[in-house]
Amino acid sequence: MTETTSIPALLERYDAFLLDAYGVLVYGQGAIPGAAELIAHLNAIDFPFVVLTNDAGRSPRSIQARLAGMGMTVPLERVVSSGSLLKGHIEERGAQGSRYIILGPEDAHRYAREYGVEPVDWTADPATVRGVVACDDRGFGFLEGVEGALSLLVQRLDAGLEVDLVLPNPDLIYPKDEGRAIGLTSGSIALLIEEALAIRYPDREDLRFTRLGKPHGPIFEEAVRRLGTRNVVMVGDQLQTDIIGGNRFGIDTALVQTGLARWTGEVPSEEHRPTWLVEGLAV
Ligand SMILES: [Mg+2]
Repeated sequence: MTETTSIPALLERYDAFLLDAYGVLVYGQGAIPGAAELIAHLNAIDFPFVVLTNDAGRSPRSIQARLAGMGMTVPLERVVSSGSLLKGHIEERGAQGSRYIILGPEDAHRYAREYGVEPVDWTADPATVRGVVACDDRGFGFLEGVEGALSLLVQRLDAGLEVDLVLPNPDLIYPKDEGRAIGLTSGSIALLIEEALAIRYPDREDLRFTRLGKPHGPIFEEAVRRLGTRNVVMVGDQLQTDIIGGNRFGIDTALVQTGLARWTGEVPSEEHRPTWLVEGLAV
């Protein structure tokens, strides 16, 4: 069963925190009430934490600057964004210097370049483009970008060449216009491309995006690697990403009531059940 607890009790129990950003520390354009005080307290008592975010439209440095602008001082090495995992993905494949279509804003192109990728768009010669990194829904025309990337992939595959499909941020949708509207983001783009490739190449089950962000393992692996402990708790506002992700990774999870989700006690499956319920960020 999920028990109600508080931030001070979690500080006693664990060696480090994994803190989601959107819905826990940040909402819309500002800090969530109590978030700046929480970060200041963690810094003051030297309690290890990372900010674990699926944001792949911004570089870790931009995320750090954005938090700083809201009164939260977070060292750069404590920002674990899904976009920053592209570095390890590229290194593992020995793909430094390769060209990839980067679907995302200029900041995503910038960090991809920093990690050794040469960003191109869908007008590049398919023979020279290793794959597609779907970072965000911004920075390109949605339909033009999806069709352009898909067409280039098909040209490559038809020519017998391999493709590398990377999805730092697997989120499908996000609340926009202060919750009045729903936006589609990179996870939805990846699904469209995967479905289209499945129609064209029904025998190729490998034509799937490598998913890096929550709820998938790589982002949690990176967080515990940086913290040097697995006695951590994932503090998040979403069952689908933070809680399922933490549960599958084998760490405890805490659902905070600061974001959009409201805890009813009902969960679709045990995988969705947080270890803890935290009502606010008060320290
Ligand atoms: Mg969130």
